[in-house]
Amino acid sequence: MKNIRNFSIIAHIDHGKSTLSSRIIEFCKKLSLNSLNIKVLDSMELEKEKGITIKSRCISLNYLYNNEKYNLNLVDTPGHIDFNNELKRYLYACEGVLLIIDALKGIESQTVINYNIAYKLGLKILIVINKIDLPNINIYNLKKKIKKKFKNYNNKILKCSSKYGFGIKNIIKYIINYIPNPICKINNYLQALIIDSYFDNYLGIILIIKIFNGILYEKKNIVFLSNNFVCKIEKIGIFKPEIKYYKYLECGRIGFIIIRNKNINKINIGDTITNYPNKNNIFLKTFKKPLSQLFISIFPKNKKYNYFKESFKKLYLNDYSLTYKKEFSKIFGKGYRCGFLGILHMDIILERLYREFNIKTIITFPNINYKIYFKNGKKKILNNPNNINENEILKIKEYIVKLKIYSPIKYINSIIKLCIKNRGIQKNIIYKNNYVKIIYEIPLNEIIYNFYNNLKNITNGYGYMKYKFLKYKKSNIVKLNILLNKKKINNLSLFIHKKKIFIIGNQILDNLLKYFSKKMFNINLQISVNNKIISSKTIKSYRKNVISKCYGGDINRKNKLLKKQKRGKMKLKKYNNFKINKNIIINFLKII
Ligand code: GDP
Ligand code: MG
Repeated sequence: MKNIRNFSIIAHIDHGKSTLSSRIIEFCKKLSLNSLNIKVLDSMELEKEKGITIKSRCISLNYLYNNEKYNLNLVDTPGHIDFNNELKRYLYACEGVLLIIDALKGIESQTVINYNIAYKLGLKILIVINKIDLPNINIYNLKKKIKKKFKNYNNKILKCSSKYGFGIKNIIKYIINYIPNPICKINNYLQALIIDSYFDNYLGIILIIKIFNGILYEKKNIVFLSNNFVCKIEKIGIFKPEIKYYKYLECGRIGFIIIRNKNINKINIGDTITNYPNKNNIFLKTFKKPLSQLFISIFPKNKKYNYFKESFKKLYLNDYSLTYKKEFSKIFGKGYRCGFLGILHMDIILERLYREFNIKTIITFPNINYKIYFKNGKKKILNNPNNINENEILKIKEYIVKLKIYSPIKYINSIIKLCIKNRGIQKNIIYKNNYVKIIYEIPLNEIIYNFYNNLKNITNGYGYMKYKFLKYKKSNIVKLNILLNKKKINNLSLFIHKKKIFIIGNQILDNLLKYFSKKMFNINLQISVNNKIISSKTIKSYRKNVISKCYGGDINRKNKLLKKQKRGKMKLKKYNNFKINKNIIINFLKII
C-alpha cells in the first residue's frame, strides 16, 4: 500500500493526455518509443475515430525506483465538457493528478475546469507542460501565466515532450515522491466503490472498483449497499493493460471484478460494495448522478424491441449518465425516451447503438424540460411535447440557468452579443487580471445546442462556461407541429420559443422536403402553432413517363405499365409518415 500511486492525467482536449499515458506505459514496461503506437488507451473504436477519450481506462504498472518496487495506477480520462462527471468519478479513485498543458496553446478552458475539480477533491496536482519540442514556444512566459492563474499551486512545473519521450522519467520520479499513497485499513471490513462498469461479450459484467478498506477475495459473496443485493464474485483482476487475474486485491487498489450476467439490473455506478454478511452499513463518499438535460425518443428501425431493450441495459451499464424509459408511438412502435447530458453525448450513444449492437434508429427532435401548466389546474415538468394537446395548455415556463462564462477580457463584447442574441439577462461582470467572469441568466434551450461551440469560436477556444439550474420562468414557448399532407406527424413536435418559429420552422420544412423530393406523390408540408398554419410548402410529384419507351400500339402493354405505376403510387400514398434520420436532426441542431 505504501508503494501504490493512483493518479490520473487530466488536460484540455488535444493537449496530449493519451500520448503521455502511452509514453508512461512504454517507459515502465521498458518498451521502445512508439511501440504502443495504437493508443492502447483509446480502445473503443469510436474514440479512435473521433480522437477523443470517452470511457476512462485504468492501467496498473510496476516500476523500480531506488531499488523499491512501486505500483503506478494510471487513469486516462476524457477531456470534453460533456464528460466532466466521468472525469470526476475516476478522480475519486485517485490521490493525485498530472495536469497537462500544451506548450503552444497554453491554459485553455478545460485546463482551468480540471484544475478546480482536482483541487476541490483534495488531490495532489502536478502541472506538466507538454509538447516542448514545438517551435516558437515560450515556456518562461507560460510558466508565469500558470503561476498567476493557479495561485495555490506551489509545486514545480514539469516539462516534457510526449511525442519524443523527453522528460518522462522525471515525471515518474515526481509521481512517486509527490503523490501520496492511498491510506486505508487492511484488516477492516471491505469497502469498495464502483467507479464504472461495462458489459463484455466474452467476460460478462465488469465492474471497475477502488478498494478503500479491507480485502476483496475471488469467489466470495459481496453486498451492494444501495439495494442489499448479494452476489458472488466470479473473478477479480487488474488491467496491465492486458487483463491479469488475482486471487485477492487489497485496499488502495483500483481493479475490476466480474459477476454473472443475470445481475445486470442490480448494478449502480457509485455504489459501495462490502462483505457478506454485512455488519457495517457504511457508504463511501460518492459522486452524484448527473442530470439529463436533453431528451429524444429512440425507436429501433432494424431490430426487434427485445434486442433493443437488452442492448440498452448493456449500454447503460457503461454509461450511467444516460437515462431511459419506455415509450410507445403509434407510428414507430415501442422505444425509449432517453435523456442525455448534451449533444455530443447523444451523438455517441446513437453511434454506439449502431456500432456495438448494430441497431439503426429512428429518433425525434431533441427537447429539454419545461414546466407546463394545464387549464385543469395540473402542472408537470415535461420534455416530450408529442402526447400533449396544446389546447389544454395554460402556460409554459422554461428552464433558466445561471451561466458563468470565463474568458480573456478582449472577447467581452462578442460574448455579450452572443448572450443577448440568446435571450440572456446580464447579472454581473467581474474583472480579474486579464480575465473576465460574465454572469448571465439565460434559458437552457438557448445554450444547450450550439452555444458552447459558438463561444469557443468567438473566443478562439479560450472561453469556457458552466451553468446550473436557477428557476423556471414564464416564457413565450409554443408547441410546433409538423403536418404532412394535412396530417400531424406524431413524435415530431417540438417546444420552441415564439421568436424562432419562422426560422426554424422553415428550415425544418426545407430539410424534410429534400428528404421527400424523390418520392412519387404530391407532398404538402406545413408547420402549425396553436392550431394555425404558419408555413406551408408543396412539391408536385414527378410523373415518370412509363410508356414513352413503348413504340407502336400495344394497348395491353401500355395499360399494364400504367397500372403498375398506379400501384406504386398507392403504396407511396400510404407512406404518410416517415422515419426521421440523424442527418435531419443534425441539420436541425445547426440552426436552432
Ligand atoms: P488528448 O486529447 O489529450 O488525449 O491528446 P492526444 O494524446 O490524443 O494528442 C493530441 C495531439 O497532440 C496528437 O496529434 C498528438 O500526436 C499530439 N502530441 C501529443 N504530445 C505531443 C508532443 O509532445 N509534441 C508534439 N509535437 N505533439 C504532441
Ligand atoms: Mg485522449
